[in-house]
Amino acid sequence: MEAKTVDAGLLQSRYRLTKQRAAVLRALGDGKHLSAETILERVRAEMPAVSLGTIYRTLDILREIGLVQIFSFAGSAARYEATLEKHHHLLCSNCRSLTNVRADGLADLAHDIARRERFSNIDFALTIVGRCHDCTNRNGA
Ligand SMILES: [Zn+2]
Ligand SMILES: [Zn+2]
Repeated sequence: MEAKTVDAGLLQSRYRLTKQRAAVLRALGDGKHLSAETILERVRAEMPAVSLGTIYRTLDILREIGLVQIFSFAGSAARYEATLEKHHHLLCSNCRSLTNVRADGLADLAHDIARRERFSNIDFALTIVGRCHDCTNRNGA
């Protein structure tokens, strides 16, 4: 699945994004899942004075607006991506690559379980951990 990435220029006008916010979105523009440190490196290429704290604050704001999603799993460092679509992940335990996937039917399942347990306002995310195709081939496993 190719998640629709966010067009920073378009969104800058629609949401009146500050230069900083637009720069963070551009850093995320290739659709990859990036750590805050990697985003900082990319943003510094155009705005050298930016700090990591500013990157975190900007990411928080972009998440509130709904333009950025966060992925973190089992205590590993958070990774961010600019996408609007709800999706799930395959995580390679070897190279740590993340692949976006859809999980049709999962929403129904999650809501059924929540209803049964009388949970409301639920959120859910599926992470399938394993060894990606490239890593499997490389190691001849
Ligand atoms: Zn891998
Ligand atoms: Zn993702």
